[in-house]
Amino acid sequence: MYVTDMTHYLDEWGSPVIRGPARRWAAFLGAIVSAASQQDAEAPIPTALRCRRRPGRKPCPGRLWALRREDGFIEWQCGACGDNGIIHHWENTLWDFSAFRPSTASETIDVEVSEAEYGALRSMFILSREEEAIVHRALLFVEETVRLTGTREEWESFVECVAAEANHARERQTRVVLARVVDRIEAALALAGHSSPTPPSGRGLPPNAGRPGQRATSLRVLRGGKADGRRHPRLRFPPTP
Ligand SMILES: [Zn+2]
Repeated sequence: MYVTDMTHYLDEWGSPVIRGPARRWAAFLGAIVSAASQQDAEAPIPTALRCRRRPGRKPCPGRLWALRREDGFIEWQCGACGDNGIIHHWENTLWDFSAFRPSTASETIDVEVSEAEYGALRSMFILSREEEAIVHRALLFVEETVRLTGTREEWESFVECVAAEANHARERQTRVVLARVVDRIEAALALAGHSSPTPPSGRGLPPNAGRPGQRATSLRVLRGGKADGRRHPRLRFPPTP
């Protein structure tokens, strides 16, 4: 198990390290923080992030589960190989997207994209921090499908940005993939627009009902975790096959 203090991956200006051997590891953990910091505490979530391990030189097919604990620690674990760790001191770093966590009162619209489309969104350079938050908030919905969630307002600026990137992308493939994402967002917005104009109040399912993270009821306690004097890491994710 890796126990990581994210402040070790900041340079003297407080920005994430972008050079040297620590860069990849910092980016890997940073992505977990950006995802988990936007989710409800104590609810394990299936992120759309891939495992970094290459057992036998082949990429591990697993995706990562993450859990933001009430005490602030973020636990992560690969759903296939069980690689896991705990992250602390991530608050107020650039990886911290907790300010963008949608409030329970806000009505959100879901957009499902393929993993390839999600990969194209992750490689976009021109996103504002608000728009980036949507990308990091994504959850693996079912195998190879990623569910993005945002408010109508967030989607409206996001879709413009994706459309602009689609128009300017150098590679044809990227243009095609991003244009498909634009279509998906527009379709979801149009569909949501046909629902009752008065927002539902206290009726029916909560906005996050049915998302995969909430299906995770079978929790497991892993052995291990070095005795480092901190409060002790207990990972709570569905069993690794
Ligand atoms: Zn793995």
